[in-house]
Amino acid sequence: MHDFDYRDGKLYCGDVALEDIARDVGTPFYCYSLPTLHRHIRAFEEPLAGVNHQTCFAMKANSSLAILSYMAGQGLGADVVSGGELYRALKAGIPASRVVYSGVGKTTDEIDMAIQAGIMMFNIESEQELGVINERAGELGERAPVSIRVNPDVDPMTHPYISTGMKKNKFGIDVEASMAQYLRARDMENIEIVGIDCHIGSQLTDLSPFLDAVDRLKTLVEKLASHGITLKYLDLGGGLGITYSDEEPPHPRDYCRAITDAVGPLGLKLIFEPGRVIVGNTGVMVATVLFRKETKDKTFIVVDAGMNDLIRPALYGAYHDIRPLEAVNGARETVDVVGPICESGDFLARDRELPELSRGDLIAVMSAGAYGFTMSSNYNSRTRPPEVLVDGAKYYVVLKRQSYEDLVTGEKVPAAVRNKRG
Ligand SMILES: *Cc1c(COP(=O)(O)O)cnc(C)c1O
Repeated sequence: MHDFDYRDGKLYCGDVALEDIARDVGTPFYCYSLPTLHRHIRAFEEPLAGVNHQTCFAMKANSSLAILSYMAGQGLGADVVSGGELYRALKAGIPASRVVYSGVGKTTDEIDMAIQAGIMMFNIESEQELGVINERAGELGERAPVSIRVNPDVDPMTHPYISTGMKKNKFGIDVEASMAQYLRARDMENIEIVGIDCHIGSQLTDLSPFLDAVDRLKTLVEKLASHGITLKYLDLGGGLGITYSDEEPPHPRDYCRAITDAVGPLGLKLIFEPGRVIVGNTGVMVATVLFRKETKDKTFIVVDAGMNDLIRPALYGAYHDIRPLEAVNGARETVDVVGPICESGDFLARDRELPELSRGDLIAVMSAGAYGFTMSSNYNSRTRPPEVLVDGAKYYVVLKRQSYEDLVTGEKVPAAVRNKRG
């Protein structure tokens, strides 16, 4: 369910025509719907009413301060994977006590920052990381709360780049090896064991891998208890999929119920780390058609947004629906929608049947609210696009477009180099 629909032949977000925003801020831009965001948060939270839990939004999906601060008001916490994300979460008003810190490569500075902020817990991804966090906590005169991220070795049946819970992946600690790490952690002076964690992948469209993972974690929780290690938190990660084209992922209601049914008897506080399912369908990216380019084999629609703005098609071959801002019932044609970047992988859609588009037409790339702007870059020295948040008939530019000057901020040409130019 989202808030992007045609009205009198024009694509709207809420009560605002996307073409009006385009006229105001130019293209490309990202547009998010606040009412849709609200609905998605409630759809996840309502089935958990009465369940002892904390939802920690996976910020890497969308780290806009405006969006995070709305989430903070809704009681959400954050799952962060870097010091920068922790900084943003705190700045958006998410209390440190609702922050979990995941990721295989935490630096010493990032670890110190998180310990000093007083986060809920670190999700430990390796043996060595556990030792380093113990050391740093000792140095800072604190005790660091930790969970071990267990790799349960289940196949989430999603794209290989976004599956994380199989033995061959770099994430987490083997189910078999994690027991030893818990025993090691128990004897560490500056470590407080608080939980257990797993996250098996992203864009899952079936409940069974989640339930398989939960089963393996449950067995481990019981084994830990028999060693006198009791936990507070059971962190189930994120990964619930959304509809990009014809996927039929479980409704959050069914996901939440299936999980609470499976783990209820353990009596632990449940931590969820949803990302995509909250924000994916709250956003679109709008672009302008620059040129039509017809070759013997193909018709290319060249637009002013590229893989630097939205990399998912290039990176994962991901499908995003594309809709013209102006509905047309005329001829359709099969085209490649491509960006201006000097890479053959720079496409938004391939062999896609779309209404005939001409120079100057506007398109919306749908379902771009997750892993869209957060993955954007300055490649080809392109400025990063603005982000706009729509609430009913009002819209707010929550991030302005970068300027060319922004592109070179922080750069220096040393005098010695300048003098060598000859
Ligand atoms: C990416 C990630 C998530 C969120 O995944 P979604 O598929 O967006 O729900 C949650 N937890 C961890 C540790 C992650 O890396």
